[in-house]
Amino acid sequence: MSIERERVEADVLIVGAGPAGLGCALHLANLIERHKQANKSPSLSTENIYVLEKARELGAHQLSGAIMDPRALRELVPDFEKTAPLDTPVTGDAAYFLTEKGTHKLPITPPPLRNHGNYVVSLNKLVKWLGELVEKKGVNVFTQFAGRELVYEENGIAGVLTEDKGIDKNGKPKDNFTPGYELRAKVTVLAEGPRGSLTKEAVNRLKLDGLNPQVYGIGIKELWDVQPGRIDTGYVAHTLGWPLHSDVYGGGWVYGMSNNRVSLGMVVGLEYHNPLFDPHEAFQRFKTHPFVRKILEGGKLVRYGAKTVPYGGWYAMPRSYMDGGLIIGDSASLLNSQRLKGIHTAIKSGMLAAETIYEALCAGDISAKALAAYPKKIEQSWLKKELWAVRNFHQAFHDGIWKGLFLAGIQFVTGGRGLTDPMRAEAGYKEYSKLNRDGTLIDQSTRFKGDGKLTFDRLTDVYHSGTRHEEDQPCHLHVLDPSICVDRCVREYGNPCQYFCPAAVYEMTAEKSGPKLKINFANCVHCKTCDIADPYQIINWVPPEGGGGPNYEGM
Ligand SMILES: Cc1cc2nc3c(=O)[nH]c(=O)nc-3n(C[C@H](O)[C@H](O)[C@H](O)COP(=O)(O)OP(=O)(O)OC[C@H]3O[C@@H](n4cnc5c(N)ncnc54)[C@H](O)[C@@H]3O)c2cc1C
Repeated sequence: MSIERERVEADVLIVGAGPAGLGCALHLANLIERHKQANKSPSLSTENIYVLEKARELGAHQLSGAIMDPRALRELVPDFEKTAPLDTPVTGDAAYFLTEKGTHKLPITPPPLRNHGNYVVSLNKLVKWLGELVEKKGVNVFTQFAGRELVYEENGIAGVLTEDKGIDKNGKPKDNFTPGYELRAKVTVLAEGPRGSLTKEAVNRLKLDGLNPQVYGIGIKELWDVQPGRIDTGYVAHTLGWPLHSDVYGGGWVYGMSNNRVSLGMVVGLEYHNPLFDPHEAFQRFKTHPFVRKILEGGKLVRYGAKTVPYGGWYAMPRSYMDGGLIIGDSASLLNSQRLKGIHTAIKSGMLAAETIYEALCAGDISAKALAAYPKKIEQSWLKKELWAVRNFHQAFHDGIWKGLFLAGIQFVTGGRGLTDPMRAEAGYKEYSKLNRDGTLIDQSTRFKGDGKLTFDRLTDVYHSGTRHEEDQPCHLHVLDPSICVDRCVREYGNPCQYFCPAAVYEMTAEKSGPKLKINFANCVHCKTCDIADPYQIINWVPPEGGGGPNYEGM
């Protein structure tokens, strides 16, 4: 069907309203304000900046630990402490090694896990607050709109098409059909977070790959309200060990927030070998450890969610500039995986992108050559210094935690160089061991169910994520060749999608005609794990109709 789309022209279009996108919008708006006050030419206006966000409202798709290093926010909003919704300053921290029943506190907290001077925050609340500052500057922020396709022009990008709304599950327009917009901009900024759907396409099409392929972890989080006195406000604990085996990269966290609220979760590298490993189950078991149980017992689950984390670091950075476009934040691999911190680096990258865009607009040159100033600014800033020191960190753990800790120690004393520099990495989905099974489906009835008090099955958890999608719309999880799922994957890997998805989206059913893949797309929490961890790379995650997805209130 040929669709007539309204075309809108902007100076700058930012796709994704996370810390990176909003940091970029706010800094650019400040620069434009000063430009106007100084009566400089050309004429620039904050009204020509557009921000698109696929969530129902700002922050609804934000999930983070979250301990924030305030360094970048202080540069962006110097008096942020007066108005930002900071939950609590960190008041104490510790690292623990867990065995099945034992808790071993490390005698000293390793430097990367020290958090003195940082804040425990809800990223959902912080992003809402940042968004308000951005809107006050006159920037156009559109929630419930996803960037669905990129508009390409020669060697670069010229904007996006937003998704068509009101299409039924068979692809036919409904009564409320509204075509998407063609949003054209001089500069389009990709700030989609980890595994951005547009970023993935642009990186492939324009050949922007970094030295290493990107590698990811999945983070699973719950918020609890607990009995008073169970954990100090501002106390942050990180754990290694049980229930993860030493060949699975990852660990847990428990943070004491204000009003007896606790943030807890687990991150697991999506490069484990056993295709039947279930990260959600591992996190549920983590809660049964005496160390965690005694904090949670008698408390109540408030929210659940899951999201991926880009671990690849400096050597997985894609080329972050092209004609008419920049990539920032997690989409540009700017997270510090050693500290599991990407909020401050995302904001900083957004600010550096804003400075680049401002200069490009003033010079009337938005070519790749002009926008190449952005990675140069990264090189000259503290961002490079911080990320360069951990450039080989994640790769060091390829052969398990013990060797990883040893290599990371050498990297620590050699400024990140370690024994090999650069250390190369493989995409995580290549790490699965084959199971070589017959063609029968694995019985799912014995899967982990939880006790309904401390531990939960995935559907109960999804309920607590506030996830909602219009059911009568095309499935946004495109399986490019379903015949692989019902045959090769059954035999080779036992359908890992049923295990790695933390929202029970993928289900294999036994039909008379043979195995069938059922996709419960309405459960999708937008973590993108399927796009990343599918062993055949045949799942393509695209944004559903804008406004669908989780509601990570308070996360
Ligand atoms: C479990 C977990 C724990 C973490 N803990 C910490 C921590 O303690 N401290 C810390 O500093 N960092 C932490 N991080 C990392 C931190 O949250 C990220 O680095 C940071 O949020 C990255 O910001 P961003 O703006 O690049 O991306 P995001 O925060 O992911 O924001 C991207 C936004 O873009 C939107 N979007 C994506 N695609 C589209 C599209 N096509 N159209 C429209 N909108 C789109 C998304 O809905 C989202 O709102 C953690 C991450 C996870 C997952």
